[in-house]
Amino acid sequence: MFHPDSTGRDLTRDACGFDPGWLGALLAGEVRLDPRAALRMYHTVPLFTLGCWADERCRSLHGDRVRTYVIDRNINYTNVCTARCTFCAFRRDGDEDDAYTLSLDDIKEKIAELVAIGGTQILMQGGMNPHLPLSYYEDLLAGIKAAFPRVHVHAFSPPEFIEFVRFFDPPGDGLEAKLAYVFERLMKAGLDSLPGGGGEIFAHSVRRRIGLGKATAEEWLTVMRVAHRLGMNTSATMMFGHIEGVADRVHHMDLVRQWQDRSIADFARDGGGRYKAFISWPFQRENTPLGRLPEWDAADEQAFPGDVVAEGGESERFGKVVRVAGATDYLRTQALSRLYLDNVYSIGASWVTMGPHIGQVALHFGASDMGSVMMEENVVSAAGTTYCLTEAVLCRLIRNAGFLPAQRDNSYNLLRLHDGPEAPDRLVTDWSRQRARKLAIEGRQAPPAAVEVTVSAGIDRLAVQ
Ligand code: SF4
Repeated sequence: MFHPDSTGRDLTRDACGFDPGWLGALLAGEVRLDPRAALRMYHTVPLFTLGCWADERCRSLHGDRVRTYVIDRNINYTNVCTARCTFCAFRRDGDEDDAYTLSLDDIKEKIAELVAIGGTQILMQGGMNPHLPLSYYEDLLAGIKAAFPRVHVHAFSPPEFIEFVRFFDPPGDGLEAKLAYVFERLMKAGLDSLPGGGGEIFAHSVRRRIGLGKATAEEWLTVMRVAHRLGMNTSATMMFGHIEGVADRVHHMDLVRQWQDRSIADFARDGGGRYKAFISWPFQRENTPLGRLPEWDAADEQAFPGDVVAEGGESERFGKVVRVAGATDYLRTQALSRLYLDNVYSIGASWVTMGPHIGQVALHFGASDMGSVMMEENVVSAAGTTYCLTEAVLCRLIRNAGFLPAQRDNSYNLLRLHDGPEAPDRLVTDWSRQRARKLAIEGRQAPPAAVEVTVSAGIDRLAVQ
């Protein structure tokens, strides 16, 4: 978009010391950001200007008209976990009173509720539970597919796969072969795609302090590469705003871009998969060990460790303060991700952590997708986040931001374009009810399902803010 001042100059391109010709080429996708320029951009370009650049890039990739969302349900099948991530308030040891592992019947009940409101996929992840055999996962996937063959199963994460290899000791020579064995077993049972959970921050100096007992960056990226080789699409994530610096965020994006290049070059010709989306969100501090660290004071003359050089773990202050990211930091980081990740199709807004209205603004800072309605969320909410939305509210947020809402599937194919009077938000007659504790399922026809479903009393437990 062109943003002229009174003289007709495009201020967004002229004012920040970047060569206008180079910037034009960047926004057209003809040249790439390098880490040094990205870092300079983050630190020097005004927030609004950076947003305009990301928006322009987003519009050139996705057009001006449609922005998407998906209806899925987060299902956390177990909270028992061998890792001890310092940002996590969700995990439990196996012998704690509130440790749990869901049965297939529990999960089927949750999926029936999802299908009843038009949902198309589940996002199923857990802690890394050493007591569950491979057959638990195979039976779970097969049971889900038998009951709900049309529901897309977006499940597990790279750290879970690394632990599967450790727990099950599968046959194969080396990590990639062992991973491929587990993948093939789970794909045969019904796994459709792999979410990007556990990405956090890749820089070793940060990761070793926050992801205790969890996959290294190299392992995380290797799991994704194996998934891509086997034809599976995945997503990449980043959790920031804790002890990492801005250079660590850029380094993280750079690794995603590099490994995506490799996957596309090596596997695309043979039907391989790739990262379809990148989603980043700020660390939520409540109830977490990491959250108890003192907060960095922006007025402090010392730069935040890792702001200038990735892997900047040599500072004596490194890892002793947190910088909790607010809305401007979030929007700036997301905008930069749109500009940096020229080989990733979708950037997702993180309204779950930032709130619906910042999520809406994020659609003008490079995001093309609003993610999912939130029927249930256990991991981030354990650390204090409680935002949940119905489909109608999500559509209204997208429409009020100036776009046409469209429901998508996991591959970003459009399922329903909401341009008519039957749109979920246009069927709402009383918006005050959208803040009730129940998900509104009135006025929506569930799509044809493989089995008859009944909305159980369990739906009363689904919190909607
Ligand atoms: S974030 Fe995930 S891997 Fe880390 S402790 Fe929590 S449940 Fe375990």
